[in-house]
Amino acid sequence: MELAATEKRIQKLADIRVDDIASMYTLGDELGRGRFSVVQSAIHKKENARYAIKVVENDSLSDEENLEALETEISILRGLRNPHIVQLKEVVTTGSNTYIVMELLSGGELFNRIVEKGCYTEPEAADLFAQILLSIDYLHSQKIVHRDVKPENILFITAESSEMKLIDFGYAGLWTKEKPLTGLCGTPDYVAPEVLTWYDDDDNGTPYGMGSDLWSLGVLLYVILSGCSPFSAEEEELLLKQVAEAKYEFFENEWKAVSADAKDIITRLLVVDPAKRLTMSELLVHPWVKSAVENCRAKMEQKAAEAAAEAAKAPVGEATAKVARENGESPPSCNGCTVL
Ligand code: ATP
Repeated sequence: MELAATEKRIQKLADIRVDDIASMYTLGDELGRGRFSVVQSAIHKKENARYAIKVVENDSLSDEENLEALETEISILRGLRNPHIVQLKEVVTTGSNTYIVMELLSGGELFNRIVEKGCYTEPEAADLFAQILLSIDYLHSQKIVHRDVKPENILFITAESSEMKLIDFGYAGLWTKEKPLTGLCGTPDYVAPEVLTWYDDDDNGTPYGMGSDLWSLGVLLYVILSGCSPFSAEEEELLLKQVAEAKYEFFENEWKAVSADAKDIITRLLVVDPAKRLTMSELLVHPWVKSAVENCRAKMEQKAAEAAAEAAKAPVGEATAKVARENGESPPSCNGCTVL
C-alpha cells in the first residue's frame, strides 16, 4: 500500500496528533499483549487520571488487513456506550504509534479468576453470566457481533469487584441481513461450527451472524461452571472436529453437583445448527439466569439514575456529558475528542 495513503488513514483514526505521547500521558506498566499491540497503564497528565492504552506500531499498519481491522475496531468502539463494555476515551497518533486510550480495568481477566477459584458457584456464575449476556445483548442491538467472546476478553473493574466489562473488538464485525459475516475469526476452543466452515476455505464457508456469539457463550458458561473446556485435544485438527460436531460431555466429577437448568442452557447453546440454537432473547429469560438478568438490569438502571442526579449538581457541560453517557448515548464532542 502506498505510504502516504496509509499515513492519511492512520491520521483519520485519531482524535489528536502529537509528536510525542509523553506530552499527554505518562506510560506505565504493561497490562497485557495482543497479536499486534501492547496494552499499558498510563496517567493523563492534565487530568491526573489513570487509563489503559493499547499501543499499535504504525509500521504494522502498512499491511492492509491490519489497518482495516484497526479501523473497524476503533469505529465500533467509538459507538459503544454500555456499563459492561470498556469505554474508549480517545485515539492519539504520533509518527510511530497509534494509541487507543480506554478506561482502566484493573481487576484482571476472568481467565485468571477461574484459574484462582477453580470454578464458580451457580449463584456467582449466574450473576456474572447475566452481566456478560447484557453486554452482548447490547452489542447485538447495535448489529455488532463480537466474534471473540472468551474469558481473556472479560475484565473486572477492580480486584475486589465482581463487575465485568467486555474488551477487545479486534474481531468484531457489523452484521446485516443483506451482508452476513464471513471469514474465520476467534479462538479455536470458543469458535462456533459455522465460523469454522471458513477454516480451510476462504471462499465457500457458511455466512453467519449473532448466533456465533451465542455458541461462544455456551462454551464460556461450561468453563465458568466447571473450570474445564468442553472441547479439548492435543491436536488442533481433533479439537476442531469436536467443535464441528458439538462433541462434548458433562463429566461426572465436575458436573454432578451442577443443576439441570444450568446444563440445559449449555446443551441448548452448543447446537451445531445456529438456527436451532437458543437466541439471545430466549436465553435472557431462561429460568437459570432470568432473575440474575433482572437484578443486573435493575442495578444498571439505579446507577444511571444516581449518575444523572450527580450530574445535575455538576456544571452544565459536564452534566450533559455524564447523563448522556449513563443513558447509553453518545456524549457531546469537544475538538473531535470524546468528553469523558
Ligand atoms: P488479541 O490479539 O487477543 O485480539 P489485542 O491486541 O486486540 O489482542 P486486547 O485483547 O484488547 O489486545 O488486550 C490485550 C490484553 O491487555 C487483555 O487481555 C488484557 O489483559 C489487557 N487489557 C486490554 N484492555 C485493557 C483495559 N482497558 N484495562 C486493563 N487491561 C486491559
